[in-house]
Amino acid sequence: MADVEIRKLIEDRLSKVPKKFQKQYVSRTRRREVEEIRCRMCGTPIAGMMPIDTGRVEKEGSEKMRVIPMAFRMFGNYRQVQFRMDDGAFYEPPVCADCAKKVTLEDGEYLFACHLNEMMLSGASKIRLVDQFGYQIKEYLGVKK
Ligand SMILES: [Zn+2]
Repeated sequence: MADVEIRKLIEDRLSKVPKKFQKQYVSRTRRREVEEIRCRMCGTPIAGMMPIDTGRVEKEGSEKMRVIPMAFRMFGNYRQVQFRMDDGAFYEPPVCADCAKKVTLEDGEYLFACHLNEMMLSGASKIRLVDQFGYQIKEYLGVKK
């Protein structure tokens, strides 16, 4: 399959997806580190950098400043929902606790189309794209975490 064909197939699939799903859900720092993950359905933050303690005061010359160590954490509203693909593989997109209660099979298809598009935009190999493109969402299994 040519690159143009794959692109067209993914874009066709994406064209059926409501706009609310077609958003950036990962923010990165200038160094390309993940800074925040938002719910793939509503955009609420579900993971990001958080202080791991109250920090300590450090002196730099005559200046004093509080240094607070940060770490990437899943927030309390982080959930993963689980779909089964037609080949038996799982697809587990992250969403917020509220959206996890109302996810449908159709949402899974939208989320998966966005996932394919993101893979394409991030320059995933053609082999991986063709391989994943063949999959269809078959069943919704519920909230995993
Ligand atoms: Zn949500």
